[in-house]
Amino acid sequence: MSVNDFAGEHALVTGGAGFLGAHLVRELLARGSKVTVWDNLHTGREKNLAAIRTKISFSEKDIRTVEAKSVAEKFSVIFNLACPASPPHYQKDPVYTWETSVLGIRNMLQLAELQGARLLHASTSEIYGDPHVHPQGESYWGNVNTVGVRSCYDEGKRAAETLCADYTRFKGVDARLFRIFNTYGEFMHPDDGRVISNFCVAAAKGTPVPIYGDGSQTRSFCYASDLIAGILALARLPRERYDGPINLGNPGEFTIRELVTVLERITGKKLSTQNHPLPLDDPKMRRPIIERAERILGWQPKVQLEEGLRRTYDYFAAEIGSLA
Ligand code: UDP
Repeated sequence: MSVNDFAGEHALVTGGAGFLGAHLVRELLARGSKVTVWDNLHTGREKNLAAIRTKISFSEKDIRTVEAKSVAEKFSVIFNLACPASPPHYQKDPVYTWETSVLGIRNMLQLAELQGARLLHASTSEIYGDPHVHPQGESYWGNVNTVGVRSCYDEGKRAAETLCADYTRFKGVDARLFRIFNTYGEFMHPDDGRVISNFCVAAAKGTPVPIYGDGSQTRSFCYASDLIAGILALARLPRERYDGPINLGNPGEFTIRELVTVLERITGKKLSTQNHPLPLDDPKMRRPIIERAERILGWQPKVQLEEGLRRTYDYFAAEIGSLA
């Protein structure tokens, strides 16, 4: 793995105070980049950047309202991560979510066009919706409810992909899309609401682990450091080799019940569970085909679920301890 391969770059990371942003910013710094973070702290936390605060430039900015021509700094690469990503958070203010996805990426594309920066946009496996095709490759167009409770996120992210493709076709912007499948790790908020954080927090507190539905639905979980390595490989890819959205995720597929078993092995405890209704439009299965990322980026996830979950559980246990 090369170090300093971002020396000379000035990276803008929107959503840099969020879970993945906090990882990405650290890795960019480690590889020699100058880093600016914009985050309106809607779901991001300054705490995630506290340890590296003096090494970055941080502004509390909302990408829905940034005007490209008013931006004084000059960036060579933009990573657009700003958007709530956990179902309870993105559904809390759906109009905000849609605007952040759609107006936010429009503004970042205008900035990339004006500054000649390349743009890396965080898309999502949610664009496949509740898939009829399994596992999901990039050529699958998805099965998304346009008017459901998840649509603000799913359709917002789909529209953002469309804008990226059209800014590339019509305005020559170097915009690259990566589709993130369920990712977990340190810096997640204890109240994030996603399955891994909820399960780790419940296990650490000794409260019942909440299972939505019967727990037979599947997901594929990628550890944060693996995902960041994939994003940075895409950022370094010569432009002519990018030919469309790339799935980034770990193809290991687990039912939600199996996740409880893995957590039991890690904690050495028998965990009690509590069943809750399955949320509306909850996808029944999800697993990425990552052949494209392997071929184009030479990328594969390295961290197995048990190892990543052990580190993540330790992080949550410490977070819960610090709040007690
Ligand atoms: N889930 C669960 N318990 C929780 C949170 C989520 O059983 O406390 C389930 C949820 O219904 C879904 C899966 O776990 O089937 C993954 O949910 P998450 O919110 O992490 O992300 P999603 O992939 O649905 O966006």
